[in-house]
Amino acid sequence: MNFELNEEQRMWQRTVHDFVKSEVQPRAREVDETATFNWEATRKMGALGLLALSIPPEYGGTGIDALSAAIGIEEMAWGCGSTALAIAAHNGLGTSPLALYGSPELKKRWLPLVASGRGKLGALALTEPGAGSDLQGGIRTKAEKIGNEWVLNGAKMWCTNASIAEYIITLARTNPAGGSRSLSMILVPTNTPGLTIHPAEKKMGLKGSPTHALSYEDVRVPLQNLVGEEHHGLHQTLATLDGGRIGIGALSVGLAQAACEAALQYAETRQTFGKPIAEHQAIQIMLADAATEIAAARLMVYNAAWRKEMGKPYSQEAAMAKLYATEMAERVCRNAIQIHGGMGYSSQYPVERIYRDARLMTIGEGTSEIQRMVIARQMRINHA
Ligand SMILES: Cc1cc2nc3c(=O)[nH]c(=O)nc-3n(C[C@H](O)[C@H](O)[C@H](O)COP(=O)(O)OP(=O)(O)OC[C@H]3O[C@@H](n4cnc5c(N)ncnc54)[C@H](O)[C@@H]3O)c2cc1C
Repeated sequence: MNFELNEEQRMWQRTVHDFVKSEVQPRAREVDETATFNWEATRKMGALGLLALSIPPEYGGTGIDALSAAIGIEEMAWGCGSTALAIAAHNGLGTSPLALYGSPELKKRWLPLVASGRGKLGALALTEPGAGSDLQGGIRTKAEKIGNEWVLNGAKMWCTNASIAEYIITLARTNPAGGSRSLSMILVPTNTPGLTIHPAEKKMGLKGSPTHALSYEDVRVPLQNLVGEEHHGLHQTLATLDGGRIGIGALSVGLAQAACEAALQYAETRQTFGKPIAEHQAIQIMLADAATEIAAARLMVYNAAWRKEMGKPYSQEAAMAKLYATEMAERVCRNAIQIHGGMGYSSQYPVERIYRDARLMTIGEGTSEIQRMVIARQMRINHA
């Protein structure tokens, strides 16, 4: 067993880290305060391959392996949670189902554009006002075949990137009978008449990552915009989320790493009772626990990514990595604030923002409760 990154992966890690340090991290506070998306850095990500982590080389990707993809998201989150979420959603949700299931024509039309940084990004709309954890039972948005078009009607919620996307892959009910074979993925270009992207949600954190409610009123797209097989949308979604969960796990590791580094830096300089607080054992315990938990989460995320790359089953490992890494990030960020004392509660220091950003991670792409359901279900299957 070899725990070392290979030469190529190390170089990639260094390249992304340096890029994030110069283009992403310096604007993290500003994008949070002004709720603006960092387009300037995103445009430059195309050349690095950061917008093509799920895209094969024939459609503009770099052919990067799944572990390197996770490292890319981790490094991005180390610099800015908002930017990392937008890029993780673009790669894991917006482009991944298209790359996995789309027709050659659809892939050719859209993937090179969104991979390049010249176009906008990709988005995936699953969640609805009445459907989040329970997509199968809850989805009301429907798509009907009329002539040579799909006609979509309904509403979606919480769609990351909608206002900065070329298209939104929409999970819609195509078979009113219901059941696991009743949903389909349909690609809707964002300039299609009848699609309304509502103003960005006002959120607790991740303010530089736009999230929107959507309305579909007689939205017409060609039948060829079906992504994958008709009525196989639920299965395709669950497979997409398996991969996306590695991304959210990696994002959480990056956020926790940044919070831990900030806490250590503060602890070395802040003095109480005549010495730096880093010399107090209570502070050392929080720092040591943070470093240990980050290391454990990183290994879990890398293991899930490695299994994905090797073509091994990884659904349970991705759920475990997401569950542990996201809950770990919350604990680490909480203690990073504790170490900063009152200053941790001030927006002058980054830990306040990172804590708010980290809070989403146990919710998006399947809550912690849903991850535990996935893990327990697999345990019971293995046991039977
Ligand atoms: C910032 C942000 C970005 C997002 N981006 C996207 C996106 O790009 N695309 C998209 O489609 N969605 C997106 N989402 C939506 C997100 O995936 C959902 O919010 C999430 O899946 C939970 O669904 P819900 O909010 O409907 O909660 P619910 O499903 O209503 O759950 C509410 C609570 O009940 C619990 N619960 C539900 N069922 C069970 C059960 N069987 N057993 C135990 N507990 C249960 C949940 O864990 C949770 O604690 C985003 C959300 C946010 C906040």
